[in-house]
Amino acid sequence: MTILEDAKNGNVNKEMLHVAEIERIDIKQVLKKISKGEAVIMKRENYNPVGIGFPFRTKINVNLGTSSSAGDISEEFKKVEIAQKYGADTLSDLSMGGDIDTIRRNVLDISRVPITTVPIYQATIEADSISNISEDLIFKVVEKQLKDGISSIVLHSGFTLDTLNKMKGKRIMKIVSKGGSLTASYMKSSEVENPFLQNFEKLLELIKEYDVVLNLGNALRSGCIHDEIDEFQLSEIKMNNRLAKTANNFGIQVILESLGGHIPAKNIMKWVKLHKKITNNRPLFVSGPLPIDTATGYDHIAAAIGGAFASGFGADYICAITPAEHLCLPTLEDIKNGLIACKIAAHVGDSMKFGLNYLFNDDLELSKNRYLKNWKEQFEYCIDPDEPKKRHLTNGEICTMCGKHCALSISKKIL
Ligand code: SF4
Repeated sequence: MTILEDAKNGNVNKEMLHVAEIERIDIKQVLKKISKGEAVIMKRENYNPVGIGFPFRTKINVNLGTSSSAGDISEEFKKVEIAQKYGADTLSDLSMGGDIDTIRRNVLDISRVPITTVPIYQATIEADSISNISEDLIFKVVEKQLKDGISSIVLHSGFTLDTLNKMKGKRIMKIVSKGGSLTASYMKSSEVENPFLQNFEKLLELIKEYDVVLNLGNALRSGCIHDEIDEFQLSEIKMNNRLAKTANNFGIQVILESLGGHIPAKNIMKWVKLHKKITNNRPLFVSGPLPIDTATGYDHIAAAIGGAFASGFGADYICAITPAEHLCLPTLEDIKNGLIACKIAAHVGDSMKFGLNYLFNDDLELSKNRYLKNWKEQFEYCIDPDEPKKRHLTNGEICTMCGKHCALSISKKIL
């Protein structure tokens, strides 16, 4: 039985018990949320499963992998270590360069968290040209990725050839999802229907054998704040929700990727809440969203601001954006900075979602130690303890920001 079938039948399994304990949620609520499709559990053999969806803590994904024009494989493997060290909940291997099978198997060997893949990337490379992609090749790639032990798979099945044809001439940024644009390009090259949509039920049979989480891709997300959310993205959200229902009825857990890309800050609450309503509170995975377009080089900061809003208003899972977004393959330092920014966003979001519950004990302990100027203890509660240690003078009491006019020292004397 799959995790979802277990939940529907009221059977508590080891993955549910682990998630209930880690998240401090009653097991009955975990069962209820999973059975209704409002939360999922990504499992990974020999490692801890991860719960995604309300009322679990907001989770963070880090993308890594080679591209067709760059990618030192050893550097990508170091990114796995960095991402795990700084607290990524899941990783996505998006490799499109080098020996993709070997890279994925190595990433699985050296990682401890659930891994996601996007089969259209590898199918595009193996076909050598978009027009050579075939349904057989797609199935072959999906099957080998599943066999290797991934925990989640992304299919861009939520749009049709008719939608693509209607999009012509509309939008400033057209399609900004890589998986979405590759799928769309294959469809347009032969004027065929979306292969993931056409073969959806056959793909579900394959996915069910491995009980991985199906991640329905967000091909038609808005690519700049002036494109906003349009009829095309709305039709994808509705289609993905219909497909999610079918997958849930098959016993497969589903996450919906959506509202990633670029959304003006004032619209984030409206869209997240509407998305949750349209999709019956299914788990929502966002990239960013970026609330402005001009932060290039600092897109991790823009994404953290958008991500904090999105998470606070109901998004369950955020993809880290690095300072290299829109520019180049990220370095190790970029991966760290993007992940830390995303952790800050998720933590802010959780404070809006849950109030100051147990997740904020570190904030409380940090403040108590900050007041007492227990520098060493204080830093251990930080999201990244290494950074303050690098900056603070090691000789005792002093913080040079205000020097002898330290407000904490003054208030300690008078209050
Ligand atoms: S010196 Fe200023 S910035 Fe530093 S701890 Fe005291 S009040 Fe805070």
